[in-house]
Amino acid sequence: MIRLVTLGEFPEEVLDHVARRVNAAYGIGCEIEGEAELPDGALSDDQTTYDAVKLLDEIEDETQLFADDKVVYLTTAPLATAEGPMGKGPVTGYPQFGGGKAVVTSHGLGGKGELALDAGLAKRTAHHVGHLWELHHCFDARCSMHPEWAPGFTQYPEVVLCLYDRDKSERKIKVGQS
Ligand SMILES: [Zn+2]
Ligand SMILES: [Zn+2]
Repeated sequence: MIRLVTLGEFPEEVLDHVARRVNAAYGIGCEIEGEAELPDGALSDDQTTYDAVKLLDEIEDETQLFADDKVVYLTTAPLATAEGPMGKGPVTGYPQFGGGKAVVTSHGLGGKGELALDAGLAKRTAHHVGHLWELHHCFDARCSMHPEWAPGFTQYPEVVLCLYDRDKSERKIKVGQS
């Protein structure tokens, strides 16, 4: 089960859209679970962005998780990650690769050259959920695992996985459930 927890206000129909698209992409349940607070400790010194890694570490959340559950926090706030292979900068989200939690932001969606809020949030969420199942970035521009910073990612609004990633996620989900 994938559980969506909001850290801010989202229109109900946008959340429904995200849950339906993620469910269709992975073939497992995706539910809107509830709300939690953005942890102040993750706010950057200049108060402009949230550190995505710290945010996941410090979040206080009552969501009851079972062994194979994944939880995705949805925020409207701009996120950044510490210096990584891609440098420090704005990110669409951050997954605990192979782990249980990810945070995804809607920041920037609906703007120039970006996907619309509903389609974009669904695609970003599906992408970072994929990383939770250890899916890597994919060369196929239509696949939701295409790098989120590549132009192809915003070119295709549909949430789809290539056969390879669909297969791999199915195997990971089966292992998690046994
Ligand atoms: Zn990625
Ligand atoms: Zn792929």
